[in-house]
Amino acid sequence: MTFQDFNLKQELNKAIENAGFTAPSPIQESAIPIVLNGKDIVAQAQTGTGKTAAFGLPLLNMMKCDGNVETVVIVPTRELALQVSDELFKFGKFLNIKTATVYGGTAYNRQINHINNASIIVATPGRFLDLLSKKQINIDPDFVVLDEADEMMDMGFLEDIKKIFNYLKNRKQTLMFSATMPAPIKKLAEKILVEPEFITITQKEVTNTKIAQSFYVVEEYERDDALIRLFDYKNPSKAIVFCKMKRDVDRLSTYLVSQGFSAKGLHGDMEQRQREEVIRAFKGDNLEVLIATDVAARGLDVKGVSHVFNYQLPFDSESYVHRIGRTGRGGQEGSAVSIVTPAEFKSLHKIQKDVGAKIESKIVPNKSALQDKSLQQFLNNIATQEIDESVIELMDKLKDQFDLSTITYKLASILLAKTEVKGKDTIGKSKKDIEYLLQRAAKGGDRSKSRSSRGRGGSSRSRGPRNGNSNNRRRDNKR
Ligand code: ADP
Ligand code: MG
Repeated sequence: MTFQDFNLKQELNKAIENAGFTAPSPIQESAIPIVLNGKDIVAQAQTGTGKTAAFGLPLLNMMKCDGNVETVVIVPTRELALQVSDELFKFGKFLNIKTATVYGGTAYNRQINHINNASIIVATPGRFLDLLSKKQINIDPDFVVLDEADEMMDMGFLEDIKKIFNYLKNRKQTLMFSATMPAPIKKLAEKILVEPEFITITQKEVTNTKIAQSFYVVEEYERDDALIRLFDYKNPSKAIVFCKMKRDVDRLSTYLVSQGFSAKGLHGDMEQRQREEVIRAFKGDNLEVLIATDVAARGLDVKGVSHVFNYQLPFDSESYVHRIGRTGRGGQEGSAVSIVTPAEFKSLHKIQKDVGAKIESKIVPNKSALQDKSLQQFLNNIATQEIDESVIELMDKLKDQFDLSTITYKLASILLAKTEVKGKDTIGKSKKDIEYLLQRAAKGGDRSKSRSSRGRGGSSRSRGPRNGNSNNRRRDNKR
């Protein structure tokens, strides 16, 4: 199937081509014809599968573009409002469609002015309801979209959403999109949608199969060491680390920076401007690691996230699906790594069952495994390194003092010192330990016994120069 098959306006086909989309994704294939038919829909598809275009393209096709507000998209967070608005603006570019965002934390007046010129409003529930109830805006949209509906439920927006719909009585069509479909969502759909068509992706496809999922078993005090070791081993180009608590986000971001990574935290207590700055840095290539709470990183669409790390497992399976969905976007491969303590086995088991995905048990690489890998990298670097003209003079000077082989040994020693691996030799549980612990947990064994009496170790050690792109890291940190 191609986008041409939908018989969309030429201006839209051009925008689709400009966006680099070649074929519609499965959710787009099923949803677009139904929306074009004028029907209400409830669509469930995993994150990163192109839900924005699934509603954006058909709605833009049906809109009159007469300068009135014709479409309202309601999203859970400010970041998503900006992201969805950007994506819709991109599709509507050749139709001269203007989009406006509405969210809390910024001045009312500017937003109201923007609304008056826009065809599409993308809004978070709180501020939108505020504007509607205070009669600050007078709009009569034909189309209303609830995007990431499950997240809005989780964030407690249900009542606001119900009230919002009281103000949008003349709408012709209502669409609901969600990554998961818990009961309250279905109930809401039955209440506010008219004879909706349900599109659901089958269970085994709930998580993206291109995401390799693994877990490592450690003791509580080893989480930091395990995270650093896994970073060093996996060398992620862009990673998100999820924590349960804001205070873990703050502590870990400081710690990772002290270890030479370019890392920043993202959580709900930060100012709006600060959060936008962090996201912008992460989207551009100015930040290697983003450490975030679930709420702060919901729905975030950043290209090229190679790894998602669960510093702790999330509270529930749906959060797990959301978290790992930050990688493997747009059909790319991704890796989801969970650091798990024996006390978390119950959650792990539940996630495995609910998600229906294989999460593979792995061992944290020990020092020599990492050294082998660094050495291999070192050999590759030497093989591919081009000889720069500027070194000829330097070599002439060296050759006056030493013979060639001595020079080579000395230079190699300097370089090798940089690949030295810091930290403890082994971190976390061995394969045998893990098997035993998992079995015991399955039998309902006493989990408290697996807690270690040792204190937190490792986090105070300092590291020498890092191998690989350590220089880039340092430079990035100073920006
Ligand atoms: P979701 O809302 O399902 O999480 P998004 O709408 O944010 O997903 O889309 C995820 C990413 O995939 C975006 O960067 C988007 O531009 C891209 N994308 C969407 N549809 C296609 C397509 N048909 N072909 C290629 N990329 C696509
Ligand atoms: Mg989305």
